Amino acid sequence: MTKLQFEFRTYARPFAKPLQTRYGLWEVREGILIRFRDREGRVGYGEIAPLPWFGTETLAQAWNFCNQLPLELEPFAIAEIPLNLPACQFGLESAFTALRSDAQPVTLPIQRYAALLPTGEAALTAWRSLWQQGHRTFKWKIGVKDLFTEMAWLDQLAQTLPSEAQLRLDANGSLTVETAQAWLQTCDRLSCIEYLEQPLPADALPEMLEFSYQFKTPIALDESVATLAQLQACYDQGWRGVFVIKPAIAGFPSALQRFCQTYAVDAVFSSIFGTAIARQQGLRLAASLSNPNRAVGYGTAHWFKSPDSPNFDALWQNL
Ligand SMILES: [Mg+2]
Repeated sequence: MTKLQFEFRTYARPFAKPLQTRYGLWEVREGILIRFRDREGRVGYGEIAPLPWFGTETLAQAWNFCNQLPLELEPFAIAEIPLNLPACQFGLESAFTALRSDAQPVTLPIQRYAALLPTGEAALTAWRSLWQQGHRTFKWKIGVKDLFTEMAWLDQLAQTLPSEAQLRLDANGSLTVETAQAWLQTCDRLSCIEYLEQPLPADALPEMLEFSYQFKTPIALDESVATLAQLQACYDQGWRGVFVIKPAIAGFPSALQRFCQTYAVDAVFSSIFGTAIARQQGLRLAASLSNPNRAVGYGTAHWFKSPDSPNFDALWQNL
């Protein structure tokens, strides 16, 4: 195998409105775009979009790693990227895969994309335009305001949503055992709840396993299963609920594919607010590995100021 010409550059994309998460306000998505070229002139793009608060490398660590790689790269060097750089593993392996394939872009029908609602009370009206666009699954962050206010909003939302709609609640690990039980009791009497995502912090697996036996509402793990090693560990400890998988931070796509196919897990593939490059590569994996009866978590394009370009050469030039 001949050497690859390796280039990389950073990008910064401001959100249309800063994203309120329990980790604080997120205003700009930053990452690294990668371009491989081989001697035949074939090109493959990749993207490194770390999420350090999910336990990945930081942008600076990814940048330093890229900087010490040779600009003429031996393909076998990709398989040697260490485990503590999962976003780099994804970015470089998927760029190499892209270089060797001329697959057409993957698109799913709009109802297969879950749409992220704004946090808080704004969700009560924001779902309407997303519904009109064709979305049927909505995701709403909880654990941001006090319990009773949020539960009252949920009741209102559940009453106004059409019966076909499904709602995912995402607590980002912010609940206690008591508040999680209160949410689950409420969810159990509503018909629109698809699942409650990551009620407790990442390491509280025994308690979340207990909830999964105790309540009817399914529970999804997200922060608990950021990387492939964590996915495997939770599976080994008996988790058979939903796994939210963010391929762009999970490590090598080839290893992720092996995991999903070996264990046939109930997977919901999800974005990390990357560009069209990471999104397209994530969707390609989702098309074969994500549970076809659940929407994927890639309905996030409307969160950015600039429209996403499906033309990767243009993205490379302009971001
Ligand atoms: Mg989540």
